[in-house]
Formats: sequence, C-alpha cells, structure tokens
Amino acid sequence: MKRLTYLAFAIAFIFSILVLIFKWGERVSRTSAFDSSAENRLVMIIDAGHGGADGGAVAPDGTSEAEINLSVAIKLDLIAALFGTKTVLTRDSAHIDYPAGARTIAEKKVADQRSRLAVINGTPGAVLVSIHQNNFPSVTPHGAQTLYAATAGSKELALRIQELLISFADPTNTRGAIKATDDIYLMRNAKCPAIILECGYLSNKDEFNRLTEGGYQTRLAAAIEASWLSLTKELEAVCVKG
Ligand SMILES: [Zn+2]
Repeated sequence: MKRLTYLAFAIAFIFSILVLIFKWGERVSRTSAFDSSAENRLVMIIDAGHGGADGGAVAPDGTSEAEINLSVAIKLDLIAALFGTKTVLTRDSAHIDYPAGARTIAEKKVADQRSRLAVINGTPGAVLVSIHQNNFPSVTPHGAQTLYAATAGSKELALRIQELLISFADPTNTRGAIKATDDIYLMRNAKCPAIILECGYLSNKDEFNRLTEGGYQTRLAAAIEASWLSLTKELEAVCVKG
C-alpha cells in the first residue's frame, strides 16, 4: 500500500512537472527543455548537507538534519534520472570518509567542505543544488527558502525554485529567495551557479512532521527538477563553455 501511494505521488508530480514545462512554453523553447545534447552538458551537483560526524541541526525528537537532507537528495536524484538530467551526489549515504589528519569534528567539517568543493569546481557544466534544513530557537518560523550565490545563473535558479516550492509543496509559504551570506563556504567558493535550499524549519512541529514524510520530500524534489528543466537553456548559457 505504501508503495502504491508513493507511486501515485510520483506519477502526480511528474504530470505536474510536464504541465509546468508547457506553462513556460513561451519562455522555454522545446529544444532547450528536451534537447538531450544541450541538457546533457549540464550536471546537477546534488549536495546533501552535513553527514558523517556532522549531523547539522537537530529536531526536538533527535532526528538530524543530515538524515532529512539525504532523503530529499536521493529523491531528487531519482526524479532527475527520469528526465535524463545528469547528476553527481556529493554524498549518497550517512557515512563520510575523512582524511587521516582530520581528527576533531571541526577538522572533519573543513576537510568535508573542501572535498565537496573540489567535486563542484572539478565538474564541467556543474550547477550546485545544496539541500539543508533550517532551525530556530522559536517554534514559530516556517517555510522553505532558497538562497543563491553571487555567480551568474544562481539567482534565476533560486527564484524559480522558490516559486515552484510554493506552488508544489506549500502555498502558505510567503518567503522569497535571498542572497546567501558570505560566510557559507560552498556559496562563496563555488565557481558555478549555486543555490541552497533550506527545505523548512525542524523547530516548527508541523513543518518538521511534513519534512519527514516521503510525499512531501518528493514534492520538494519535483519542484527543483521542474525548475531545472525550465531553465536548461539559461543555465547552459552561463556554465557550459564552447
Ligand atoms: Zn545545514
């Protein structure tokens, strides 16, 4: 039964993606969305934030941000594969291998961030999609929010993702996409278009419950893939050379 529910969700969202692509038909030519030779030069780097020794933010019930990030990242990878989008995951499990010299958690975090950056900046045609969860001392704040780097194409991708997150996953969300602050290592150092999706607040009980549901995670992932497909031409123009 669970499998059937999941399948129904998947089909419903694939259908939604197709409807949205056609909705943008005037702005996106058929070739930009469906020409595999163009699309295949782009690579979506799916970065599940934290992991290994670094669990990230922690929900009141002890669930770590790292676990939810990975669940959303894996769903995004599956949906992306359905549409022929090339992907690279910076991690695909809870485990992270650290260099022998990294002993403290701080050293491990630094080593991990450096190795992720090496993957991002070493992949031709890369576009970074980093998945995180928010947390706040008060239980009130809620709503997914997309942050963008200063590099070309980042803001456009973030704005589109924010728009689709609201229509696909949470119509009550009034947040807009914002520029990432300079203290975020990957946002500051990635040379390609780069965004962070803060999927929601672990500190808000209702939102936390949704963030742990497979169906909601699928909606978030579908919003990202639909945004990607609708901006293929624009992203290719800024990050594929030659
Ligand atoms: Zn995080």
